[in-house]
Amino acid sequence: MGEAVVVKNAGSHFLLSCLPAWDPFPAVLRGKVRLGAGTSTNPVAVGDIVDWQADGPVDALHPAVITSIHPRSNYVIRRSTNLSRQSHVIAANIGRAFLVTTLYFPEVKIPFLDRMLVTCEVYKIPVTIVLNKMDMYGNEVPEEVGRFCSIYEGAGYEVLKTSVKTGEGIDRLRDLVSEGVCLLSGESGVGKSSLVKSVDPSLEPRIGRISDAHLQGRHTTSLYEMYPVSGGGWLIDTPGLRGFGLVDLGKEEISKYFPEMLALADSCRFVPCTHTHEPGCAVKAAVDDGRVSPERYNSYLGMLEEDSKFRQ
Ligand code: GDP
Ligand code: ZN
Repeated sequence: MGEAVVVKNAGSHFLLSCLPAWDPFPAVLRGKVRLGAGTSTNPVAVGDIVDWQADGPVDALHPAVITSIHPRSNYVIRRSTNLSRQSHVIAANIGRAFLVTTLYFPEVKIPFLDRMLVTCEVYKIPVTIVLNKMDMYGNEVPEEVGRFCSIYEGAGYEVLKTSVKTGEGIDRLRDLVSEGVCLLSGESGVGKSSLVKSVDPSLEPRIGRISDAHLQGRHTTSLYEMYPVSGGGWLIDTPGLRGFGLVDLGKEEISKYFPEMLALADSCRFVPCTHTHEPGCAVKAAVDDGRVSPERYNSYLGMLEEDSKFRQ
């Protein structure tokens, strides 16, 4: 009897641990469980804080029974298929998401990064942008690094510069990871598994590559797991935030998830304002004088356009 965190979701059964202690023990769902939020095909997700009961000693043959789920501070959802309206809560109570990117190899895709940032804002997940492969940018392109940092620091995000080769930024990354339950996300090839290995060499064979494999398979939603990191904290192995559908956002809503635009919205002449054609728009004025970056504004316009296409 007690309280524990779901550290593995294998669909029909779970592992719980009384974090911060790492003592995973088996558990199952039986009967009715009081739900925290939403309609979801799997009511219990990795990261959920649950109450459990057991009649005697718990082992594989005598698993604990999950009796209730505590309210979630946040969660990420993934739709099962395009056709289905069902969704899976795949992780809950996430302390921080790391969005890993590179300037080149692969080339940064600003609209993709901004979409992921909006997803984190929607889900209320603190986020750190990790600019990896710093060793590859040399001295010829420091302006490009500076430009990237000014776009995102200007929008209110921390940009952590890292290199697995030189070790730059790895201590800071380890510190941030140690604060809680973390997600690592970013497109293939940016260095996610290399970063995991730098933070904790024992994790690399299990995390990172597995995530990419998950994405290929059809039945990708049944196994989610978190791993303890030797320096503290836990990393959730999921397909990351990539491929997560955005929850339905109305046209007026999208700009609320661009923090630098949200901060200006009250100053627009019209409320609500889509920050596109309205006279007296404070966001457009800020784009004109450089307080809001044109890159971010373009990402916003792209999302607006996609949203209206989607809604036709
Ligand atoms: P993932 O697909 O995001 O997990 O990326 P990987 O960790 O597999 O890395 C992709 C490639 O980039 C590998 O060849 C790594 O050796 C390389 N790589 C990762 N991080 C760095 C870095 O900081 N500097 C350099 N030069 N190469 C890196
Ligand atoms: Zn406006």
